[in-house]
Amino acid sequence: MPLDTDQRPVILTGDRTTGPLHLGHYAGSLRNRVALQHSHRQYLLLADTQALTDNAADPAKVRRNVLEVALDYLAVGIDPAKTTICLQSGLPALAELTLLYLNFVTVSRLERNPTIKEEIQARGFGRDIPAGFLCYPAAQAADITGFKATVVPVGEDQAPLIEQTNEIVRRLNRQIGRAVLPEARALIPSVGRLPGVDGKGKMSKSQGNAIPLSATPDDIRDAVRRMYTDPNHLRAGEPGTVEGNVVFTYLDAFDEDRAAVEALKAHYRRGGLGDAAVKRRLEDILQALLAPIRERRAALAQDPGYVLDIVRSGTRAARERTQATLDEVRSGLGLLAF
Ligand code: ATP
Ligand code: MG
Repeated sequence: MPLDTDQRPVILTGDRTTGPLHLGHYAGSLRNRVALQHSHRQYLLLADTQALTDNAADPAKVRRNVLEVALDYLAVGIDPAKTTICLQSGLPALAELTLLYLNFVTVSRLERNPTIKEEIQARGFGRDIPAGFLCYPAAQAADITGFKATVVPVGEDQAPLIEQTNEIVRRLNRQIGRAVLPEARALIPSVGRLPGVDGKGKMSKSQGNAIPLSATPDDIRDAVRRMYTDPNHLRAGEPGTVEGNVVFTYLDAFDEDRAAVEALKAHYRRGGLGDAAVKRRLEDILQALLAPIRERRAALAQDPGYVLDIVRSGTRAARERTQATLDEVRSGLGLLAF
């Protein structure tokens, strides 16, 4: 379908190429993306330049993970005929939009962004924050608006970033005098953010607390066994606490039998249900969820050239679209075009 006659709402999301994707991505975003690709014009960004903002000392890792994340997309059911997968560093218009947007946001606003604050803390940067990292919300605004996306399916941790994007959009539109850029809304699943297996903070590629989508059956079993439950629930016969108990949080996220989960929670609260039994149920569910994903992923990994070709052609298509947006912003701001 030619671009201009495609009236479907536009989606832009993506992932930093810092490691293979995990269950947090699946619950927080991938699941939505697979469902929405039929009714939306969807772009997925492999965010390698954003990954460099806190991985500048290891560009090889960032490069290597372009393929890993692309494999994860295809393995969970992203269809390259419906979704455009593209590489951030191959879209120079986004870098130029970022540079322009940095003039429409203040340093104090960037420092106040709750996502950035949390991430700075998790990475132990103190005051030594790479400037690129502090400014990545402006780059994210460029990513979203570069595609003129109005829907952004993300995990709950990203909500403040979409808010910040819309602030930049409003300022820029006001400066230009008309609505060149649309505002976007975050589409956040009820799961919110999936905690890590240690129960400390969200599951994250960078924190070593994740179950990757490529986990082997043994990895899954070990992760579930190690999983944080209620530290005061020492005997199966005693009542236990469900809130903050990671095993139940995961059941909420992945067990489709809602009634069964509610019954288990009631039993656990009442006493008489041991951690081992709840963990067994969760393990079965995760094994069943991940087995087909792992198999598809392994088959695709046999042919990296095919996967990278998908990214290459997606990047080419995305280049045109983002360049068109940049041209509009440049002319709106009255920059000379030589
Ligand atoms: P890194 O540690 O490198 O930042 P990450 O694991 O946080 O990696 P991102 O690439 O930053 O992953 O996040 C990509 C998308 O996945 C975002 O939309 C984010 O909201 C979502 N996401 C990541 N982790 C979780 C989680 N634990 N629960 C829900 N959504 C998540
Ligand atoms: Mg992150």
